Amino acid sequence: MLTIALAKGRTADASIALWRDAGIPAPADLDEGRALMFELKSTAWGDLRYLLVKPVDVPTYVQFGVADVGVVGKDVLMEQEREVYELLDLGTAQCKLCVAGHPSEQDSPARKVATKYPRLTDAYFRSQGRAVEIVPLSGSIELAPVIGLTDRIFDLVQTGTTLKAHGLVVFDEVAEVSARLIANKSSYRTKRALVDRLTKVLGERLARSEGELV
Ligand code: AMP
Repeated sequence: MLTIALAKGRTADASIALWRDAGIPAPADLDEGRALMFELKSTAWGDLRYLLVKPVDVPTYVQFGVADVGVVGKDVLMEQEREVYELLDLGTAQCKLCVAGHPSEQDSPARKVATKYPRLTDAYFRSQGRAVEIVPLSGSIELAPVIGLTDRIFDLVQTGTTLKAHGLVVFDEVAEVSARLIANKSSYRTKRALVDRLTKVLGERLARSEGELV
């Protein structure tokens, strides 16, 4: 049995599509009956169990070994620095970690920053020689500068639509982010053949799509 933790939300659909393209059995409909666990028995890969969990929790499931492998954004991995192996850049859910704010604030020094990434935000502003007050939030980050809670946000930007809708602009692009395949360290030893096979077929599928783009 191989247990796979997927980040719920926009990355899960992309992960499942990639899985299927690579010929790995995957659940047909993730929204079905609000299920959070899907079991596929006796597939060509043996028994497969998929867990749908919050993105920030994927590394926890994998580090503690209740999931053998997981798919999660590089943003979460950078913020958490967990004891897991990062095996492959899946290239899905591409976006950027950015500092953003209202255009009128661009030339003023950062003072207060709203974010889901307090550690990365702290490291970034320290590297700029600035001590800022970090305001940790778990969602709707873009609201913070609009209502005057902070003068900056540090968050993911994909299309820029959300920033634009709030009258905000990117001040700096800090890191490129995409979904990564991660593995539990002991599963990587005890289920090595299966984990290697998974990494290999996904890697081959990605190489094929890069070829198709050329
Ligand atoms: P967008 O409007 O496309 O720039 O998306 C921005 C909003 O979606 C922000 O609230 C981000 O936190 C969130 N977001 C963007 N990309 C991702 C991603 N790859 N995974 C999860 N959330 C994302």
